[in-house]
Amino acid sequence: MSSNTLQKDWYEILGAGLSDSQQELRHKYQRLILLYHPDKQSADVPAGELEERAQRFIEIDQAWKILGNEETKREYDLQRREVAMTQKWPVDAQVPLEDMNWIEADQCYTYSCRCGGEYILPVDEAEENMFLICCHTCSLSIEILNKS
Ligand SMILES: [Zn+2]
Repeated sequence: MSSNTLQKDWYEILGAGLSDSQQELRHKYQRLILLYHPDKQSADVPAGELEERAQRFIEIDQAWKILGNEETKREYDLQRREVAMTQKWPVDAQVPLEDMNWIEADQCYTYSCRCGGEYILPVDEAEENMFLICCHTCSLSIEILNKS
């Protein structure tokens, strides 16, 4: 994956959320790609507008190349998290690990964000002493305090 992959928010380009399934992502991609496909534009669209749509079409295609593949999507998600941790994202609260909900079936901890979204922490990432996780819906993050 090239180093400029992170310069764009591929989820936003697809109008998708971090928690969308592959199927949901595919639906959104297919709807957009039809909307912006150069061959699908009507004759009365002004040239400048056509150019913008063609640009959008390329971005949508790039977004799907990354998010439509399990492996590159995982890599991108991971890189986003790393960037989020080095940047100063708004920290909404400090939450002790024991206050999070343990979801046995998914082997992860969850915590409700005040936006109605959810923080999700896979168990194999719950080893560090203190770290930030980002809400899957909004841009807030919480600091997890792990005393053990
Ligand atoms: Zn949130």
